[in-house]
Amino acid sequence: MATMLAARLHKTGEPMKLEQVPVPVPRPTDVLVQVKACGVVPNLINVLTHWQSWFPELPLPKLPAIFGLDVAGVVAAPGDQVQNFRKGDRVYVNPGLFCGSCPACRADEVQNCTNYTFSGYFGFGPDSQKQFDSYPYGGMCEYMIAPQHNLVPIPDSVAFEEAARFGYIGTAYAALRKASAGPGKTILINGLTGTLGLGATLCALGRGVTRILGIARDRGRLARVKALAPDRIATLAQDEGKSVAEWARSFTGGHGVDAVIDCLGPGTPGNFLMEAVYALRRGGKAINIGGVGEKTVMDIHWMMDNQIEFIGSNWFDVADAAAIAAMAAAKTLDLSVFQHIRVPLKEVNRALDGSQFRDGGFTNVVIVP
Ligand SMILES: [Zn+2]
Repeated sequence: MATMLAARLHKTGEPMKLEQVPVPVPRPTDVLVQVKACGVVPNLINVLTHWQSWFPELPLPKLPAIFGLDVAGVVAAPGDQVQNFRKGDRVYVNPGLFCGSCPACRADEVQNCTNYTFSGYFGFGPDSQKQFDSYPYGGMCEYMIAPQHNLVPIPDSVAFEEAARFGYIGTAYAALRKASAGPGKTILINGLTGTLGLGATLCALGRGVTRILGIARDRGRLARVKALAPDRIATLAQDEGKSVAEWARSFTGGHGVDAVIDCLGPGTPGNFLMEAVYALRRGGKAINIGGVGEKTVMDIHWMMDNQIEFIGSNWFDVADAAAIAAMAAAKTLDLSVFQHIRVPLKEVNRALDGSQFRDGGFTNVVIVP
């Protein structure tokens, strides 16, 4: 039996162990993918250390397990019923697993699957372990199997380490799609300079959003994001002490913004989110993709009076991923802003807490087998 190197977590909070495990064999409608780059998202360290205490309803795979969320690689062996992928194809693997047979899946709402699960990360339902059992390999190894419908071809012009960033870019893209963010619109991105916020900025520029307002802490990084499109981006430092709503209204004739994309992470106070929601115009939409963990007081009467929509959104579908791949090929999505930090699989533990490398969203940490 062929074996390969894999990093496995045996106990939460402990370092991963490097071990030899069998190379998986694809079932007829699955594909064996040779991993070329696996993204390390900022939240990974939370998942590996605190997740079960923070969010007990979001189960991890049974340990020991191979983690690794965002995989870009090459098709090594398609299953014998796979019709549209060939050996050697360059692909991104969307890690969103779904059962295919629950009411949501049958209605083609696969992200609402009762057992929706991120391969190599965590799940959303009590039966997520069934998905982990079917697809036990995340990206921190040399080969993984994935359902054929989760693969997204990537253009030759997109490097593997760039495609390994598709997860948070796709998450941001899906939020902008749900917000109908395009020409003529003004959006506010809360948490502008982080991994999600920068992804949202790049996608918004690519989708032709007219004006992007962004809030974050670090003034140096705010200036760097603004420099991507100085005529279309305006920024506010969080500690400037201004009312976010008043600041946003000063750009929109007093009306407020069309959409808020909230990218603040789990450790951020909930009132930071709500302050941004107050910047919406009547009928505006807030899309929450950052995952603030604190229970947050919402002004639901004001939201009703003003016809405000608040949408929780996580991840994206393969059509969104295909759209960002096409935008990258057309250079309307600029992936050149990232600074890649490539960490060999053998040094995986050095990469897990990506915060040590982080220059906000500009840093892209990838594990390279
Ligand atoms: Zn399902």
